[in-house]
Amino acid sequence: MSGSIAHYDVAYIGQALKENELSQVTLPASSLTECRGEIGNFTLSYQAEEELDQIQTSNVVINLPHQEELPVEGCLSLTGVGDEFLAEADGDKPLIIIQDYQELSAAALSQRGLKLALQAKSEDPAREVYYFYQAMRFMDDNDELYEEARRQEVIFLKHDLGELEISQDGEVFYSREDIELNLSGKLVVAPELKPAAEVERLARIFNITRGPEGYLQVDNVYLQPTLSGKRGLYVLGGARGPNALTYQQEEREYTLQEIKRNLIGVEELDEEERSVDDQKCVVCYTCYRVCPHGAIQRDEELNSMQIMPLACQSCNLCISRCPMGAITRSGEIEEQPQSDRQVIICENSAALAREKADSDPMAGLEVTEVPCVSTVKKEHIYQRLAGSEGDLLILGCISEACKHLTGHDRCEQVVSSAKSDLEKLDLDPERVNYQRLSPRMAADLSAYLADWKGEVLQ
Ligand code: SF4
Ligand code: SF4
Repeated sequence: MSGSIAHYDVAYIGQALKENELSQVTLPASSLTECRGEIGNFTLSYQAEEELDQIQTSNVVINLPHQEELPVEGCLSLTGVGDEFLAEADGDKPLIIIQDYQELSAAALSQRGLKLALQAKSEDPAREVYYFYQAMRFMDDNDELYEEARRQEVIFLKHDLGELEISQDGEVFYSREDIELNLSGKLVVAPELKPAAEVERLARIFNITRGPEGYLQVDNVYLQPTLSGKRGLYVLGGARGPNALTYQQEEREYTLQEIKRNLIGVEELDEEERSVDDQKCVVCYTCYRVCPHGAIQRDEELNSMQIMPLACQSCNLCISRCPMGAITRSGEIEEQPQSDRQVIICENSAALAREKADSDPMAGLEVTEVPCVSTVKKEHIYQRLAGSEGDLLILGCISEACKHLTGHDRCEQVVSSAKSDLEKLDLDPERVNYQRLSPRMAADLSAYLADWKGEVLQ
């Protein structure tokens, strides 16, 4: 793997868009092996010749062609047929254009079909041109093309499913009401469009879901057509859906605009942050699988899951599905009402000691129980202190009692760092304190709290 990692504004998986202002890289879909990180800072790993390499990028665009399937071998695809076809020597055979064979085609293919029919007529007005369709779809100047093709005596034949058959030899059988036709000629058919072959693998790499037809874009098809479920990841063409053919230019422009906007700055969508307690997480991957926005990845160092704040869209699905209750919202602690004597206690030690005491040693205090004091962050401490004139006491576990291995140590470090910050700001560091207890230390708890209340109330 190369030493320094280059950073780009945008990485294209598949085909790049023409654009001079952005720094960009293009990777073949088959080379991509992993994506980590979030909008603004994705790291993509890919196979480069013999070795694995990496790049960093602020945005990713998946832009692959559709897979096409034609009903019979030997017929031409309406997506690909061009001038060279019409110039072929067998131009005197009837031209048969089938716009919608088994399924309706995109409006862009109506346009292609109409243009092809007109081109054939302009080159040889006597040539028979049959145009089969289930529904004519209009975009741009399709209506004018249609009217012109009728004037040029293109034969339009409407059909429903089952009224049109193509044999393996390319013969066309049409039967509707009292018309029966058996035709052969130069056959051009709109293909059935399917998601690009690599889309399923890319969905796994980017940890996003696919729609029922296998495409990546299932939401906001018309309003924000190329957004994926993951912020900073855009999908075009054969990753996005059949309509991508119709609005190619608009969708490219929209995507580039979004990317440029992202480069100016991206903010978290919610002030509350979701975080995973690495001491509780058992790396079962449930949250990773259920997150609809690919906002969760594994932190290899901590051997725990990690929520990426810019990618998170605050649906709380991960919180509701985590079997260990390891994911919390930062707002959960701050939501408590604030008083002059606040205590945060671990439910595995101080809370149990409290239950064992003869009389409630915490009467009159504002108490918040947490699964582990390691979930208390410095910002929680500052919010508590800023919201009252009083003091804050945090009661964690002694080492032997801590169910989360080093949760007590981590909280002590947080408190010590908060004290030093308070000192630097010329504020009283004694407003926050930390004490360790075991569930059996009911008497110590009462004594300690009595001392602390006495000091606070002085
Ligand atoms: S669901 Fe909970 S325990 Fe499972 S990996 Fe996610 S955070 Fe960890
Ligand atoms: S809150 Fe929703 S979007 Fe955010 S990490 Fe959890 S599941 Fe993903």
